[in-house]
Amino acid sequence: MNANDTFTVPIKANIRKMAAYSVPQEFHGVKLNQNESASDIPLAIKEEIFRRMKKMQWNRYPRDFPGRLTKNIAAYTNFPAEGIMVGNGSNELIQTLVYSCCDSGDRILTVTPTFSVYHRVAAVMNISPVTVPLKKDFSFDVPAVIKKSHGVKAVILASPNNPTGTSLGMQDIQQIAENIGSLLVMDEAYFEFHGQSAQRFIEIHPNVVVLRTFSKALASAGIRLGYLLGQPRVVDELKKVKLPFSVGLFQQVAGEVIMENSEFLEKTIKSVIRERERVFSALQAMPGIEPVPSRANFILFQSGKWPADEMYCLLGQAGVLVRAYDSPELSSMLRVAIGAPEENTLFLEKIKEIFNFKEIEQ
Ligand code: PMP
Repeated sequence: MNANDTFTVPIKANIRKMAAYSVPQEFHGVKLNQNESASDIPLAIKEEIFRRMKKMQWNRYPRDFPGRLTKNIAAYTNFPAEGIMVGNGSNELIQTLVYSCCDSGDRILTVTPTFSVYHRVAAVMNISPVTVPLKKDFSFDVPAVIKKSHGVKAVILASPNNPTGTSLGMQDIQQIAENIGSLLVMDEAYFEFHGQSAQRFIEIHPNVVVLRTFSKALASAGIRLGYLLGQPRVVDELKKVKLPFSVGLFQQVAGEVIMENSEFLEKTIKSVIRERERVFSALQAMPGIEPVPSRANFILFQSGKWPADEMYCLLGQAGVLVRAYDSPELSSMLRVAIGAPEENTLFLEKIKEIFNFKEIEQ
């Protein structure tokens, strides 16, 4: 279609205004831009997944609410299976939640900066988010969240939050759950690196749901699997909204086997937590660089007096891909995922080299 053609397809105006979600993915070097796990699933586990897959009937639709996978997640989370729903990544579950609670023109509340998919899902539905800025130190402004939640249909908070790595305390979550009149979605994509969960509030607060993913600590971003914890009566309603059969046979079988072997993840999770503290201390020791203390598998840092986009390009040329942001509030910041120890060392070496180089130049 050339530029002079009139666009006649009736795509909604709000969608035509949006940019497509895009993150650089092809990169030959150290890839630290998507908060993925640096270690892949062990070969023996992949072989067990394929062994089970070979015995399945691929010509039949998969179970829509897979029993064995749900049972395994129940054991992993110590949460009743009736309150668990799996989805095609937690992204699908975010969409399911917003579609379930909101009509066009309704409002959701979230903080800024946070994970962009909340805004994206809302924008498609013509839902404008109420945004509460994080404080200067990137902690949550709990009274402001409660105050501004009046009239919204859902409050969506990531804890630890992406991209800041900051988290909400249990008392804060309880206070929010008790004082808002809407659904409270606690996105715990980075739970395993933090160790604290809002799932304890679900039993007494029916408005609380918790989202988790296989994409981070569970080292399976490629598989596309997430799950939701909520009161069974809430989950039963959400099940009506999720697209039928959105979690395929492979996702189900892979999830089952990964859950049955979850002890293999312990070593990597411990290593990420150790490495996170090492990278944080090293960045903090660099004059001009200000890292934000993180409870997740990434660190957000202020790139000092140099523009973040310049630092991003120099790191990329040096073989390290990190995450940069377009939004004005993050224009001087970069986010780096915690990779394998040798990857983190290379990142720190390169950033030091860039710094020295810049200092000589001035
Ligand atoms: N929530 C948060 C806070 C995230 O950072 C991400 C991924 N970056 C997701 C959800 C999406 O996870 P999934 O891969 O399960 O869709």
